[in-house]
Amino acid sequence: MSAAISFEKAQEGRPTGPLVQGYEVIIGFETHAQLSTASKIFSRASTAFGAEPNTQASAVDLALPGTLPVMNKGAVERAIKLGLALGSHIAPRSVFARKNYFYPDLPKGYQISQYEIPVVQGGCVSFFLGDEKKTVRLVRAHLEEDAGKSLHEDFVGQSGIDLNRAGTPLLEIVTEPDMRSTAEAVAYARELHKIVTWIGICDGNMQEGSFRCDANVSVRRPGAPLGTRREIKNLNSFKFMQQAIDYEIRWQIGELEDGRAIQQATVLFDPETGKTRAMRTKEDAADYRYFPDPDLPPLAIAPEWIERVRAGMPELPRAMAERYGREHGLSDYDATQLTQSPALARYFDEAVRAGAAPKLASNWITGEIARRLNLQDIDITRAPVTAAQLAALIRRIGEGVVSNNAARQVFDALWTGEGSDIDAIIEAKGLKQMSDSGALEKIVDTVLAANQKNIDEYRAGKDKAFNALVGQVMKASQGKANPAQVNALLKAKLG
Ligand code: ADP
Ligand code: MG
Repeated sequence: MSAAISFEKAQEGRPTGPLVQGYEVIIGFETHAQLSTASKIFSRASTAFGAEPNTQASAVDLALPGTLPVMNKGAVERAIKLGLALGSHIAPRSVFARKNYFYPDLPKGYQISQYEIPVVQGGCVSFFLGDEKKTVRLVRAHLEEDAGKSLHEDFVGQSGIDLNRAGTPLLEIVTEPDMRSTAEAVAYARELHKIVTWIGICDGNMQEGSFRCDANVSVRRPGAPLGTRREIKNLNSFKFMQQAIDYEIRWQIGELEDGRAIQQATVLFDPETGKTRAMRTKEDAADYRYFPDPDLPPLAIAPEWIERVRAGMPELPRAMAERYGREHGLSDYDATQLTQSPALARYFDEAVRAGAAPKLASNWITGEIARRLNLQDIDITRAPVTAAQLAALIRRIGEGVVSNNAARQVFDALWTGEGSDIDAIIEAKGLKQMSDSGALEKIVDTVLAANQKNIDEYRAGKDKAFNALVGQVMKASQGKANPAQVNALLKAKLG
């Protein structure tokens, strides 16, 4: 069965996605995750980023005659980890193949990849889009080596080749064309990025190219066969990803509306213009003349190896989110927010361990804290308020020392560095909630004496009048009264 037919088949029975100008959008991803091994996939040269050109290219990477590739076990182990994390089948026997093409940064004249039998097969990535759960199925993930890099030195009018990157281990992760909007595609990429960094197989650094996505995009009328795809190469930021796919969708619809057909092509996104443009027409698999690499034996993975790797796997974000639901009664949505990164989950765990009510800790972290992190574009490890401080603040609310509103002011002072001792801040700002019930009772009496009209209305059955009285008392206490206490006192006095 050809690839196009099997992609078509896999889409049978899937619900139609949201329409754009009457067209359904279809997106499939190929992601290159650079594996975090210290040395290359088939040589012992270092994979460290940013070295002087060609200082990390061994004889194997330079393709000197007579050299032979030797498989890096660490790369295989990382592929197994991904397979376990995504519920894939891990092939007991997979095969390396030569993908032949000519390019100056590829001295062997072929790239070692996996073709017919990849190491990771099937599996899926699930995530929330808003509050809707989405599942994107994987076709496969295969091991391969990266190519080198051409450096165009315009100032001397020359191009150079840097082979430091040649032979860097990659895992190419290929999805079914299951995504139906730009938002879903970006959410998938974010989730995959989260998983590969969470299980520690990739550092996830997108600027350095450690996680690059190719987005295959097509559009069709609902119910029609799959449209012709164009593949946007090397998206290395979530922002560009969104802009590129949005642009591509509008462009394809424009072409079809003008009566032109879409040509299958590989395109690049230019952040300067916000447009995609064709780089080359698409090669077919036949152009690559794949064949099994005679220099490498088939990759055999014994069940014991898989079990050893499984035993060393961390709890995955999804499992952790489900546990938060069970143990702390958090909603699926909140629990998912808290498991965006190991650091965020750790922060929540620490706050709970320090005595914060889990639900309140979750609200603060996914609300106030997330908002501020976002605003300052920093992650939780750089939050100026520690988990222990957050827990102490939440405890003060629970003890009735401060109201929610006052706690926000305390939090602001902690965050901006105005103070670091919670009780001192409460004291200095006069935010202490009134706990002396005698003093509160006096205020209530004064308010009741001055508001006979509200009392009459309340007794005549108007709830609004009661709220007005609560408001008056809160105002008279300068916001320091405990609203629950005020409610109870008023109810008691009004009979
Ligand atoms: P290639 O390496 O030639 O791009 P692959 O078969 O490895 O081909 O990957 C094809 C990718 O394109 C997959 O991610 C798949 O989901 C996606 N895809 C296939 N057909 C379509 C289509 N009609 N529209 C959008 N994406 C598609
Ligand atoms: Mg491709």
